[in-house]
Amino acid sequence: MAPETPAGDLRLANLTKTFGAFTAVDDLSLTVPQGSFFALLGASGCGKTTTLRMIAGLEEPTSGQVLLADRDIARLRPYKRPVNTVFQSYALFPHLDIFENVAFGLRRRGIRSVDGQVREMLSLVQLDGYERRRPAQLSGGQQQRVALARALINQPQVLLLDEPLGALDLKLRRQMQIELKRIQTEVGITFVHVTHDQEEAMTMADTVAVMNAGRIEQLGAPAEIYEFPATAFVANFLGQSNLIAGETTGGNGGDLLVTVHGSRFSVPARRSRADQGPVHLGVRPEKLHLVRSADEVPAGSQHLDGTITDASYVGVSTQYLLRTGWGTELSVFAANSGSQQRFAPGDRAVAYWDPGHAFLLGRHADED
Ligand code: ATP
Repeated sequence: MAPETPAGDLRLANLTKTFGAFTAVDDLSLTVPQGSFFALLGASGCGKTTTLRMIAGLEEPTSGQVLLADRDIARLRPYKRPVNTVFQSYALFPHLDIFENVAFGLRRRGIRSVDGQVREMLSLVQLDGYERRRPAQLSGGQQQRVALARALINQPQVLLLDEPLGALDLKLRRQMQIELKRIQTEVGITFVHVTHDQEEAMTMADTVAVMNAGRIEQLGAPAEIYEFPATAFVANFLGQSNLIAGETTGGNGGDLLVTVHGSRFSVPARRSRADQGPVHLGVRPEKLHLVRSADEVPAGSQHLDGTITDASYVGVSTQYLLRTGWGTELSVFAANSGSQQRFAPGDRAVAYWDPGHAFLLGRHADED
């Protein structure tokens, strides 16, 4: 199924929205490639819904452009835009059956023969056979599928999804994430998905834009922003991160040397976003490995020692806290694969990591 008119990239150029003295979206520029699955990820109040509403035409930008295939659509009325939105609330018509809910957009455009397209859409969202039910006779997940079919039937060039899975329980949400990804691949329409759930954004999207206070902190493929965050905010927003305060004290070949309370660690220069001076040495908890003594640390690794202060069994992994000699607590996730050593609070332990898995971020001198 291809959109009726040629689509193109969606581009936001210097988009700003103020409400009185408050700036909700602050000079935002980004490009969503045609046919991609794009996630706007951020905490409540960071401006993601306002951004989506400006793309949909439900909110007028204070300044800036919304371009689709190089045409500025920012001042077009919502129904004139080749864009459709799926909301968390589904917004289905309760008095119409599922068939008529999905057919609605076609009928409004005066199309009489809707049967084939409605059935194709219901099949896409795996609801064949539900045509004559009313929305109230469906589960939340099924209602969400109807909302999706109804939004897709007019073949928009861009589909906007505003926390569409927010009302579903966790297990169903995980299923629907996989399902949404499959549907997006099948229809090939650009999806822009708003969520505050980092796992959801990373599961589905080709590109994730992390928003904070109306601005983009970092934009990239899920693995890229997770493995090499641009800022401490992104490092902490996407899962847990150990950020150890230190100072860069020069280089050694392709490596940078970082001093932390008298100990020196090396990090490849390509893994650094910091200048000389105060830095955060970052290592994700699952990149740290625990052993009992420094003799067991593989060659080429970096390590530091400490005392275990907490061990929490959480099924797939055990999560440890390791207190270093200078009092910082590091988080360590050890997979419960059966072969690894176990530790208890009070045990001495050594944490080691591959220097290629660490990263360096700039730090204000007064930050911990
Ligand atoms: P959430 O996940 O809670 O929906 P969000 O990231 O989508 O949050 P927005 O809804 O875009 O955030 O809101 C961004 C900021 O703009 C918030 O501080 C909000 O209070 C403010 N805001 C949004 N709409 C209006 C409005 N019509 N008038 C005044 N302030 C508004």
